[in-house]
Amino acid sequence: MSIELGGEACGVFAIYGHPNAAELTCFGLHALQHRGQESAGIVTSNGTDVFARKGMGEIGDVFSDARMLADLPGHMAIGHTRYSTTGANSVANIQPLLITFRGRRLAVAHNGNLTNSQALKGYLEEGGAIFQTTSDTELFLHLVARSQKPDFTAMIADALPQAKGAFSLVFLHKDGLVVTRDPHGFRPLALGTLGDAFVVASETCAFDIIGATYVRDIEPGELVAIDSDGVHSSHPHAEVKPAFCIFEFIYFARPDSKIYGENVDKVRRRLGRQLALEQPVEADFVIGVPDSSNTAALGYSEASGLRFEIGLIRNHYVGRTFIAPTQGTRDLDVRRKFNPVRGVLEGKRVCMVDDSIVRGTTSRKLVKMLFDAGAKEVHVRISSPPITNPCFYGIDMPTRSELIGAQLSVESIRESLGATSLGYLSLEGMLSMHSLPDTSFCTACFSGQYPTPIEEQAGKSVFEIAGPARP
Ligand code: AMP
Repeated sequence: MSIELGGEACGVFAIYGHPNAAELTCFGLHALQHRGQESAGIVTSNGTDVFARKGMGEIGDVFSDARMLADLPGHMAIGHTRYSTTGANSVANIQPLLITFRGRRLAVAHNGNLTNSQALKGYLEEGGAIFQTTSDTELFLHLVARSQKPDFTAMIADALPQAKGAFSLVFLHKDGLVVTRDPHGFRPLALGTLGDAFVVASETCAFDIIGATYVRDIEPGELVAIDSDGVHSSHPHAEVKPAFCIFEFIYFARPDSKIYGENVDKVRRRLGRQLALEQPVEADFVIGVPDSSNTAALGYSEASGLRFEIGLIRNHYVGRTFIAPTQGTRDLDVRRKFNPVRGVLEGKRVCMVDDSIVRGTTSRKLVKMLFDAGAKEVHVRISSPPITNPCFYGIDMPTRSELIGAQLSVESIRESLGATSLGYLSLEGMLSMHSLPDTSFCTACFSGQYPTPIEEQAGKSVFEIAGPARP
């Protein structure tokens, strides 16, 4: 059995009831571009036929010409921007996936990662299923196709409880949309309106760009069907405790978005303020690592009284560091991405706030860069706790052996980064910065407490997949 199935930390978008559905989806995906830059795609329906365009690269690469949108008629659309966490970055895996079965067409776009994909795939293959992709998203299509229920909404509701793990999904069929979130609600998904049209997106920044109004989050475990009969909500799963991904607040989501009912900017600022209280430093000023840690750095500056300076300039024409597949390219990417502002840094004691340390590559390069630019001291402050465990729910976290926080003590990490000092935010400090109860979050990457069982893969235990922990 092939076991290469992989998951995605991606952006999804959907719209129903607008004559410019494809164009608005294109704009929505543009706002969600930070959630994935590997590939993009849109599928539309005009109630009679279904149309698709997908390609490798950013949304602007795939839709570089307005004529391409003219090939996507219809009053409803779904779109996807992809960033594979595992599995091949190949053309076959570009989403939305679109299939024809029993004469009907069904498309799906997925943000998340299943934790029982190997078991499901094995079961389906034994029943004769042939997989075309290495993305676990395809499993949903197989499960739906096997349902004997009378319509797509019922078929999807029938299929979903077999999937375990993280899935925020948008489906499109000829006559309407079905959007849903897994019962833990790992990944965000919001519902909005634009005039009489309904819109759904991973983050609310996709509503702002098209002038749509946020209505509410799709609830954990909720399934919403949107078609000419209106909007119908149901809950096909057994109820479980929510497990919202806390890393969305730390790093992944845009600060101008509202997720899980909270404004990301506000949470990130509070994280920075709490970091300043827990990890104070004597320095001349504080800088952020643009763009993701700017907000936390501002919070640190507010609470510490240290002024905020712009000490690093980010080149925006480079994708997120992690997308480079090899360590060699990853190193180069850091230098392509950031350049120090010498006039600010020379002779100064710098406090550099970043949102997270994963492998340590970025911080190590930046510390050296700041010293090379003349900084006298470089104090690194991280607005989250050490990452000690991989994510199985759709964020790209490598195996435990690659996670510097799992392998070394804080002092050894400091040494490895070459920093003057290093301080992380505590787990309790991070959790106290939210208005939701602590128990609403998945903190597995920091705490090792996974809200769902993680299946064995290819005869290996999760421990082997995750790699050895620090002795
Ligand atoms: P690293 O260089 O491996 O330590 O990664 C940490 C840097 O990458 C930080 O500057 C983060 O803002 C950013 N980062 C954290 N998590 C991710 C992720 N899952 N994908 C891409 N970048 C990330």
